[in-house]
Amino acid sequence: MNYISTRGDRSPKHFCDILLEGLAPDGGLYLPEFYPQVDAATLARWRDVYHQQGYAELAFEILSLYIDDIPAADLRALCAKTYTAEVFGTGEIVPLRHLENGIWLEALSNGPTLAFKDMAMQLLGNLFEYELARRGEELNILGATSGDTGSAAEYAMRGKRGVRVFMTSPQGRMSPFQQAQMFSLMDDNIFNIAVDGVFDDCQDMVKAVSNDLDFKRRYKIGTVNSINWARLLAQVVYYFAGYFQATETNTEKVSFAVPSGNFGNVCAGHVARLMGLPVAKLVVATNENDVLDEFFKTGVYRVRASADTHETSSPSMDISKASNFERFIFDLLGRDGARVKALFDDALARDGQFDLSQHPAFNDCRMRYGFVSGTSTHANRLATIKDTFERHAMMIDPHTADAVKVAREQVQAGVPMIVLETALPIKFADTIVEATGHEPDRPAKFLGIEALPKRVLAMSADAAAIKDLIAKTCV
Ligand SMILES: *Cc1c(COP(=O)(O)O)cnc(C)c1O
Repeated sequence: MNYISTRGDRSPKHFCDILLEGLAPDGGLYLPEFYPQVDAATLARWRDVYHQQGYAELAFEILSLYIDDIPAADLRALCAKTYTAEVFGTGEIVPLRHLENGIWLEALSNGPTLAFKDMAMQLLGNLFEYELARRGEELNILGATSGDTGSAAEYAMRGKRGVRVFMTSPQGRMSPFQQAQMFSLMDDNIFNIAVDGVFDDCQDMVKAVSNDLDFKRRYKIGTVNSINWARLLAQVVYYFAGYFQATETNTEKVSFAVPSGNFGNVCAGHVARLMGLPVAKLVVATNENDVLDEFFKTGVYRVRASADTHETSSPSMDISKASNFERFIFDLLGRDGARVKALFDDALARDGQFDLSQHPAFNDCRMRYGFVSGTSTHANRLATIKDTFERHAMMIDPHTADAVKVAREQVQAGVPMIVLETALPIKFADTIVEATGHEPDRPAKFLGIEALPKRVLAMSADAAAIKDLIAKTCV
């Protein structure tokens, strides 16, 4: 399988070439040259594989179609090592439970940091370690986080040979639970850096270091952000696993409702659907930051300024632009890289928006690709959390609540609607208490973590300071 850029660069690359890279050199995102087609016989076989051999083996089947530069036995071992009951708390890995009237919840949040990012990041950690060892190279991952991504990256990379993580976060802005989760890690290869500033300051520091190409090359600086194709690919697996749990036969269809920010999660659903998974609708649920809902309703994609990006009670969806959205637009426009480049390079930079409302392909979003959308406010979120708690005795986190709200608007008779549960309520306890008056349950392994010793460096918002730290650490 070769990978190409959404902005037209077609020089073929293999999976391991792009694994450690971020953007393509032309600024685009990588996608496979084509989506392998899953015929009826294969889908039937995968149903048995999932039920009889489990999630890890299903992951191996799907990944094999996209990865041809890791020997099969090694890839199988990497999947088996990643998707275990020990890491994900249950042998089913992504168990499904019924909520109401054909609406199901697929739990993607039983991993080490209790959010769905573990599903992909845990695999990425094992892939990085494997590939770096094979090349005899090292990598310094530099990132900025306001919560979920940073902790998922640290728990995936901790103790891995050849990898160090330098993670900046705004001093005092994360919840006590999130701080405790990250700062209690004592692994030698994990560096927590509390920056005197806000999230944007952290991101600016990371950008400044990455833009220093000399430094970047010399110290092998990399990222693990959500545009990494390997993360997206890992997520394709749970769409199949959800389907096999919600249906008895492969003639049935399901829909998925996905709490969306950077469009990474639901983009994996798009890939699964194009491979041939029988999906009716892909329901994109946003919070008050409704860039995506606006596009699917009007055809206008309008990036928000930082000042117009709301701080909400589903904070992991607080985005000003959806970084993976370019992948879908590439498919929508018949994989015309020049056109995508004109939209994302020129129009967005010039006008901060582009308009496809008059383009014949815009109707394909719904008709051909199954996308519909909806949005949710703080009041909707609280009402949904309260309602599912009182009527079903189930606590759901604020992001999942946004998707449940929109799923209820989109559910069709006879088509199971699978809502992807992207975090456990304990991560966002304040909002849960506001909605229900009750504290969420805390998994036993997280009891008392706020009292653990912390390992964190304080730093001013200064790129030179972090460069200094990296240089000193890597001698
Ligand atoms: C990251 C995240 C999301 C958004 O996922 P995208 O892939 O960015 O669309 C939703 N919910 C939670 C809990 C998250 O951590």
